Amino acid sequence: MSSEHIAVAIDGPAASGKSTVAKTLAKRLGLIMVNTGAMYRAVAWATIKQEIDPSDAAAVVKMLDEVEFSCGVEDGFSTILVDGHYPGGELRQDAVNQRVSKVAAISEVRELLVQKQREYLDLGSVVMEGRDIGSVVFPNTPYKIYIDASEEVRLARRSAEGLTDAVAKRDAEDSKRKISPLMVADGAVKIDSSEMGIEEVVSAAIEVLRANGAPAELLERV
Ligand code: C5P
Repeated sequence: MSSEHIAVAIDGPAASGKSTVAKTLAKRLGLIMVNTGAMYRAVAWATIKQEIDPSDAAAVVKMLDEVEFSCGVEDGFSTILVDGHYPGGELRQDAVNQRVSKVAAISEVRELLVQKQREYLDLGSVVMEGRDIGSVVFPNTPYKIYIDASEEVRLARRSAEGLTDAVAKRDAEDSKRKISPLMVADGAVKIDSSEMGIEEVVSAAIEVLRANGAPAELLERV
């Protein structure tokens, strides 16, 4: 990586617990937490507002020219505005779940968002979570973690949040797509969180940083 800022890449399937781990880790280390799923969700949400078929790549690409997606940081967390509007909790609606993998398979969508994701590193060190962070966004970072959990546990986590989400269907679409599929990146350490509490997973993540030479002044913060 070109800057002195570091990137911790956390990838994994839907509802694997990676957002919670990324948030906790970022807070503890004083890093910016970047939720890249929210960016793909914002594009899917915009297709609903614009009444665009998410599988119609040409229409989605045209929308990217017409609608502004601006990324920022608030209280240490990434934010995304769509034409100046914050979609908030609507990003987690089932209608968005059903569309998001389709827009995420469009190369122009990925190019735009990957560029915005890399720009976060200009602002500071980041913990970034998604599907292709260790493989595509920051392939050279030494800090790569892949968080998994059984499908049963992942479904239970979503339903405990009161949300409906066909996680297996989304994972299948995300794993099978040609561009930047969900995968364990080269050099990533796999953590199965099915039977682990959040503290345990965060400690395991910190061990990955330590084992891969994270700066001492960073590790002193935990
Ligand atoms: O992480 P989350 O479940 O919110 O991600 C929503 C969707 O966004 C994923 O199912 C996937 O289709 C897409 N995504 C992606 N690449 C990322 C992050 C998310 O394709 N880095």
